[in-house]
Amino acid sequence: MQPKTQKIFSRNALLVFSGGQDSTTCLHWALHNFKNVQAIFFNYGQRHAIEQTSAVKIAELNNIPLKIIALDFFSQIGSNALTDSTLEIESKAGELPNTFVPGRNLIFISCAASYAYSLGITDIITGVCQTDYSGYPDCRQDTISALAKVISLGLDKEVTIHTPLMQMTKAETVDLAIKLNALKSLAYSHSCYEGNYPPCGQCPACILRAKGFKEAGIPDPLLTRTTEV
Ligand code: ZN
Repeated sequence: MQPKTQKIFSRNALLVFSGGQDSTTCLHWALHNFKNVQAIFFNYGQRHAIEQTSAVKIAELNNIPLKIIALDFFSQIGSNALTDSTLEIESKAGELPNTFVPGRNLIFISCAASYAYSLGITDIITGVCQTDYSGYPDCRQDTISALAKVISLGLDKEVTIHTPLMQMTKAETVDLAIKLNALKSLAYSHSCYEGNYPPCGQCPACILRAKGFKEAGIPDPLLTRTTEV
């Protein structure tokens, strides 16, 4: 049950939804701030089906329409550990980690804008964050601001890309999730690069997630939940 708060926007919004911790928190931010919210999930050949299962479950929990789009060309481009399961996940000093899928957010957001256009929506929400980000350049504010401009020009419509988590640490994101009553949804969100439930606890995504909950001083509801998706 969402608390009744004054909506900031009287418009509808489309959320780029991965089923992960950040976009799940953004889903609740969107529910608090927009009249109606829809979500779009991209199946880009990521290692594990669990991301889609999480997204579907969380959308159902919140009664949000979820559009699933296949973008399977990323696996043909290759050379990253998220779409090529033969690669070990690694991160060398001074380089982007090999979990970087080049241009992923540029394509996701452009594709979301195209779908939003068909729905008459001009507000797009994404959970990208430059504070705790893994070095991904397409998660930065300047990339997103430039992209919003390109999309607005290309569609001849003023499109806004909202990034509520952009300047937040993972702990602040957890605090926001608590405020927004997002913990029940977060219990079904997925972060682990290994694609397992329960999560591995060892990979960079698990470590970053655990750090945020530890700093926020609450247990991760994903780890304490008792039911399978
Ligand atoms: Zn993991």
